[in-house]
Amino acid sequence: MKGLRTIQPYVPGEQPKLKDIIKLNTNENAYPPSPRVIEAWQTFDPKQLRCYSALANPDLVNALADKHQVPSQWITTTNGSDDSLALAFQSFFQSDDSIVFPDLTYGFYSVWCELFHIPYQEVPLAADFTFDLSQLPEKIGGIVLANPNAPTGIGKPAAEIEKLLQAYPDCVVIVDEAYQVFGGESVIPLVEKYDNLYVTRTFSKDAALAGLRVGYGIGGERLTGVIQAVKNSYNPYAVDSIAEHLATAAAKDVSYYEEINQKICATREDFIAALSQLGFITLPSQTNFVLTTHPLVSAQLLFETLKAAAIFVRYFPEKERIANYLRITIGTDEEMDQVVTVLKKVIEETT
Ligand code: PMP
Repeated sequence: MKGLRTIQPYVPGEQPKLKDIIKLNTNENAYPPSPRVIEAWQTFDPKQLRCYSALANPDLVNALADKHQVPSQWITTTNGSDDSLALAFQSFFQSDDSIVFPDLTYGFYSVWCELFHIPYQEVPLAADFTFDLSQLPEKIGGIVLANPNAPTGIGKPAAEIEKLLQAYPDCVVIVDEAYQVFGGESVIPLVEKYDNLYVTRTFSKDAALAGLRVGYGIGGERLTGVIQAVKNSYNPYAVDSIAEHLATAAAKDVSYYEEINQKICATREDFIAALSQLGFITLPSQTNFVLTTHPLVSAQLLFETLKAAAIFVRYFPEKERIANYLRITIGTDEEMDQVVTVLKKVIEETT
């Protein structure tokens, strides 16, 4: 048949429907959403659904403007942050020069480049998986940085990103802050100063609302103007009324989220220490997951043994540099204890 598109899609982690599994494969939050979200769910009037959701989601945008201390005109709400990122790729990368991002980063970036016909170059991370920004080519069409990065978990200080914004004033730098609250440094305060900076955020990870599909982008007036023109050219009502109502409640509950996310960071450090006792080498993480490898036992065996014990983690055999690593989301203390018990047993049996 004529005109059909061929594309290699992004492959997300499994969403098994089995009961009683420990699901540590897609970096969801270990805890439930805020009690205020549950309350908002109970007070939502379904009759409201007769009408379209409010264009540009003013309740949510105002709550986010308050939270981040930025003007509401800088915020664009979307269907998850994947939608913010896809919009940003379509809006800012129209030049013939290649955009750049690390060879190990969020797998969707290269997929969007293929989908939207954007030329791109993957810049290798150093041997320790850090990203040396001084190695970037001079002539580029844009930069995309997940900060902290995924699947490495390693973050960059805002001051380094600021240097990049100064070095490349003629192209857009997108900073994907999906995991920022788990230990990264946000560049949102730099948006006022740099009109080439666009930051994306999500409710999926730190707000424990992955199933709600709400994200947003923050940029100055010029970039936001382009983003909104593109958004309004194909899906103006991306965030539905229920999602807006619940996400607004979440955005207003700063203290609950601080508490659960600090707990996740503490669990992460305990888990890294327990892994180290078992001989694992784990990258320093500023996210709600770790990337870890064992020098004597293959990631494949560890992955399969965990899966047989109903513990789902992520393993990327197709990515050569990390083919012997596991990416493990940080769950509750009890869940991580169970992971350690299974790993300890398999290591004792094989080494
Ligand atoms: N950025 C990164 C680095 C991610 O890992 C993810 C989650 N897969 C996203 C963006 C997108 O998340 P969401 O669409 O759920 O906001």
